[in-house]
Amino acid sequence: MRYIVASRVRRQENRIRGEMTMGLLFSCSIDDGHPSDLKMAELLSKHGLNGTFFVPINNSEGPDVMSRAQIRDIGRRFEIGSHTHDHRRLMQMESRDAHYQIIEGKKRLEDLLGHEVEGFCYPGGKYGQRDVALVKACGFSYARTVTNLCFDSGSNPFEMPTTVQFYPHRRAVYLRNYASAGHWLKRRAGLGVALRHGYWLKRIYAMFEHARRHETTFHLWAHSRDLDLHDAWHELDRFFGHVAAHVAPASRVTNAQLAAQSGMRPPHPSTVALPATMVKAQLMTMPLEWSADRAMLFQLAEQVATHL
Ligand SMILES: [Zn+2]
Repeated sequence: MRYIVASRVRRQENRIRGEMTMGLLFSCSIDDGHPSDLKMAELLSKHGLNGTFFVPINNSEGPDVMSRAQIRDIGRRFEIGSHTHDHRRLMQMESRDAHYQIIEGKKRLEDLLGHEVEGFCYPGGKYGQRDVALVKACGFSYARTVTNLCFDSGSNPFEMPTTVQFYPHRRAVYLRNYASAGHWLKRRAGLGVALRHGYWLKRIYAMFEHARRHETTFHLWAHSRDLDLHDAWHELDRFFGHVAAHVAPASRVTNAQLAAQSGMRPPHPSTVALPATMVKAQLMTMPLEWSADRAMLFQLAEQVATHL
C-alpha cells in the first residue's frame, strides 16, 4: 500500500513520456538475476542505455542469483522487475502455488528496494491466461514475455513481446518459435529479416537496422550468464555502441516506459514480410530435430499459411 502514490505518479510520467517519445525506441531486458548482471549494468551505463532486470529471489533451476546488496546496487540505476520467487514455470503449478510465486517475488523485491516493483516476466516464457490474471491481481502494471520478432510493445501490457534475444541461435530456432508462439501476421516481417541472415550477430544488427529504418521499437533481451558461456561480452559491447550511436537519449527506455505505450504505436507496415507461401515452404523444410512428428509440422505450416 505504501508504494501506491509514488507508483501512480511514476505510471503517469511513463505514459506522458510514452506519448512524447517518437521515432526509434530502444529497451533491453535481462532475465534471471545472475551475478553477471552487474557486468551487464556496467555495459549499459557505459553506453548510456536503459534496461530492466527481471530478478527472482532464488533460481530453482540452479544458477546463482545476486545478493541483496547487488540487487539494490543495480536497482539504484535501473528498473528491477520480478521473475517470481523461485524462477518456476507457472503453467505447471496449482493456482495457489502460482499466486505465491508471483506475490512473494514482488513483496520480497519491494522490501529489499524500498519501492514498488511494477514489472513481471514469466519464467521460461511459459504462461496461460490464468497467470496473466494472477499477475494483474497481484498489482503489477505490466508483464514481459519471450515472444520475439516484434517491433512494438504489443497491444496488451501484460503480454509485452520482444524483438530478439542476444544469443547465437540457429535460423531454425526462429522458425520453430515463429510457428509455436502465434501472432503470425505481425511477426512475419521480423521473421523475414531473421531468416535472411545465417550468422547470428549479422541477424541482430539487421533487425536493429529494420527498427531504425521504420522508426519503431527494438527490444533486446538476454541472460548475462549466456554472455559468459558464449564469451560474447565484447560483441555485446560493440552492439550497445552501435545502438547508442543511433538512438536518442530520450528514446532509451525502461520496460515500464515501453509497456506504457502498449497499443499506442502500431507496427510499421513493412515491405520485407515473407509471402505466406514462402513461410509455409520454410516450415515444411524445417529440420526434423525440432519436431518429432512431421505430420503435425505440416498441419501447423498449413495453419500458419492460412492465417497470413
Ligand atoms: Zn528466466
